[in-house]
Amino acid sequence: MCGIVGVVAKQDVTPILIEGLRRLEYRGYDSAGMAVLNESAVLQRLRATGKVAELANVLDRQPLHGVTGIAHTRWATHGKPSEKNAHPHICRNKVAVVHNGIIENHEALRKEQTRLGFEFTSETDTEVIAHQVYHYLDQGDKLLDAVRHSCADMEGAYALGVVSTTEPQRLIAARRGSPLVIGVGDGEYFIASDVAALLPVTRRFMFLEDGDIADLTRH
Ligand code: GLU
Repeated sequence: MCGIVGVVAKQDVTPILIEGLRRLEYRGYDSAGMAVLNESAVLQRLRATGKVAELANVLDRQPLHGVTGIAHTRWATHGKPSEKNAHPHICRNKVAVVHNGIIENHEALRKEQTRLGFEFTSETDTEVIAHQVYHYLDQGDKLLDAVRHSCADMEGAYALGVVSTTEPQRLIAARRGSPLVIGVGDGEYFIASDVAALLPVTRRFMFLEDGDIADLTRH
């Protein structure tokens, strides 16, 4: 079981993401990563195999700063533990996704996306989610609808955090069969697989039900 942390805030979110991942380490994992968007909508990602401390070391060497971010500890189910299979998965430098669970129909989605010209950089079932969201954005959807439509196309279990350069101060979360909570801050919101990840930043939580999709902005 892996872990998800996400934040929309007015401050730099990277320290909250790293601390959140550390607090989810007990769940077990093989690699970790994060993606952040800054106020100019530049999307940046760091990933590392091994411990969250490795990711923190990479972050020290290549600092990222952003006001919206998602982070992940992976327990590989599709594709070996490696940096290229670590989350977040990104489509065309526009959409970034973290996912906990298994997309059962990923092969059918991958086949259709390959036909549409999408290129795959990982062996994961997760990467199809990033491409599917991009596909719906390209059809004119806003991010919330793009995630909603993508969820309708997916079979299996998931908790998701999704961000896009098209709406840099928005974070969409969704769950079906995998845990996900929302943390309520003061002018900032958080998501995580477990309340433990967010205790340094809030004590107020909303618990998503299966099938819920959440649209988070600072407001
Ligand atoms: N199935 C996804 C993968 O293998 C997510 C695994 C997880 O829940 O960490 O990348």
